[in-house]
Amino acid sequence: MSFNIAIDGPAGAGKSTIAKKVASQLKYIYVDTGAMYRAMALYILGKGIDPADSEEVAKACADADISIKYIDGTQCVFLNGENVNDKIRTNEVSAAASKTSTVKEVRRKLVSLQQELAASNDVVMDGRDIGTAVLPNADLKIYMTASGRVRAKRRYDELTAKGEDCRLSEIEKEILERDNRDMNREESPLKQAEDAILLDTSDMTIDEVASTILALKSEREV
Ligand code: C5P
Repeated sequence: MSFNIAIDGPAGAGKSTIAKKVASQLKYIYVDTGAMYRAMALYILGKGIDPADSEEVAKACADADISIKYIDGTQCVFLNGENVNDKIRTNEVSAAASKTSTVKEVRRKLVSLQQELAASNDVVMDGRDIGTAVLPNADLKIYMTASGRVRAKRRYDELTAKGEDCRLSEIEKEILERDNRDMNREESPLKQAEDAILLDTSDMTIDEVASTILALKSEREV
């Protein structure tokens, strides 16, 4: 039986940084489900379809072949045979992903890929609906959050480090809009699972959050 750790929370809460660190310490695989939704959004944008046009998105998503491979320990998302890791971290794709991810057909397709990965591997999986919908029986569930300002600043630092031109106030507005869509959609909205442990990372260092999760994991094993 594989051991599954589910980490959910809003954008910029620190999920991917922490999940990667915890996975590497435990020698588990890290599954970044947001990257799959981003790859789907990239596909929809590439087809010239409006990400908010649910009907068109539902039809088109059937032809997007999305898969995951691990190259030198890094998760790479493939879209119709192409590694798109370098194309999915833009603001345009973030906004589009939060629209296309509301579509039932998109979720059905990506959730089954995520469940397959978790069934055959020990995983740390992060996203919005992991503890509530994808892995309802996960061995450990964390709901990670931080204040809107702190989350915006983290995303801003990440984007500027990559040379993207952006403004903190714009990023904060976009993050809040995205959270609002993620929390209020009909299909698997972002919410804390009843049995998830809440971690507010606003004033915590990466190491503190990672060691808290590792300690919780050890407790669950006993
Ligand atoms: O986590 P990340 O910011 O990369 O996710 C991008 C978008 O993908 C989110 O805003 C959300 O709309 C969607 N998503 C989702 N379910 C997940 C992971 C991501 O709906 N499990």
